[in-house]
Amino acid sequence: METQGRTPEWVPREGGAAYTTTVRDGVEGGHDGMPGEPTGAGVPGGGGARRRLLSLAEYVEGVRAGDRVVLGRAITVIESNAPAHVSLSQQLLTQLLPFTGHSLRIGITGVPGVGKSTFIEALGCHLTAMGHHVAVLAVDPSSSVTRGSVLGDKTRMERLARDPRCFIRPSPSGGTLGGVTRKTRETILVCEAAGFDVILVETVGVGQSEIVVRSMVDFFLLLLITGAGDELQGIKKGVMELADAVVVNKADGDNRVRAEALRADTARALHYIAPATEGWTSPVLICSALHGDGLAGVWNAVEDFRVSMTQRGVLQQRRNAQMLNWMQSMIDERLRTDFASDPEIQHLLPDIERAVQAGSITVAHAAEQLLSTYERRHQRTSS
Ligand code: GDP
Repeated sequence: METQGRTPEWVPREGGAAYTTTVRDGVEGGHDGMPGEPTGAGVPGGGGARRRLLSLAEYVEGVRAGDRVVLGRAITVIESNAPAHVSLSQQLLTQLLPFTGHSLRIGITGVPGVGKSTFIEALGCHLTAMGHHVAVLAVDPSSSVTRGSVLGDKTRMERLARDPRCFIRPSPSGGTLGGVTRKTRETILVCEAAGFDVILVETVGVGQSEIVVRSMVDFFLLLLITGAGDELQGIKKGVMELADAVVVNKADGDNRVRAEALRADTARALHYIAPATEGWTSPVLICSALHGDGLAGVWNAVEDFRVSMTQRGVLQQRRNAQMLNWMQSMIDERLRTDFASDPEIQHLLPDIERAVQAGSITVAHAAEQLLSTYERRHQRTSS
């Protein structure tokens, strides 16, 4: 697995709670703010050295060497839906796969205004100062509409974006939540192969995005603030059940006492909820991302989780289950798209839907009729 000492490794220090990595230093310049793959990229003769089509080997070597420009371009290939890029990205991922898996993947959610970018910037700087290499990604299914509300504006994390040990990448835009999810999962792998040992995945607390981020990370962290209400913060729709830690942010100034009260209330409420991770009691903490208070405590909780869940094999089991679920959801999505785009199905569907609604055919019979039509067509086209 390890080549040239570049792959990060968990090396427990005395006491086992902390670790160092053997990952090399980041390369100066260009992070976030990757030039990205310009429109002509990947096209021979696209113009300029950066636009030159890179070979598969150049992508692999560049990513492995931590070259941020190549890393940015590799992610752009992964995010592209162009047929040539789809096959290139799969070849690239296959070659990088042996160098993946050595990071701690952390999802961070909370309503807009809770302080996610302030928190990620403060935690990210805390981690890079400890020697970690931190990649910050985002899942924002609304980004195709809003042009990226999460991480869209890189100036939100100016200090971290300048940190040579950090790489920030906004949410892939366009496509379905399934598409955004696949791209982010693959981007995690590429960042790991480039030597990043902590991956922070930010998401807005709306819709299904928390659930998909939960399905791609080791540790899921929910940020709360006082006065925002349970409804708004997703408490009622079950987001707390997903959290491996809940952190009440903005515990500073006059708000500190209220934050402490919310912390105590939340801890009591969590007591009655099944744990997000078997064998782990999700802590409820307070912090002030703005002033940097309490971040060390948050990271200690993450570290405790990593150590104890690794020892118990829970982390590996979670990752194994996530990979199988990922494969299954790719199959489901492909089958559904294929089914829905079948011309004969499209022709039949309106009549069958009407018949179901009118009660002249059972739902089971309708589904059977559509599926057998689809199967017959599929057999004809494949023979
Ligand atoms: P996001 O929408 O969840 O990414 O939230 P932001 O990080 O953009 O923060 C929203 C606002 O809350 C900004 O004005 C921040 O300066 C402020 N903020 C974030 N964290 C804290 C904190 O710990 N204390 C205080 N007082 N303000 C904070």
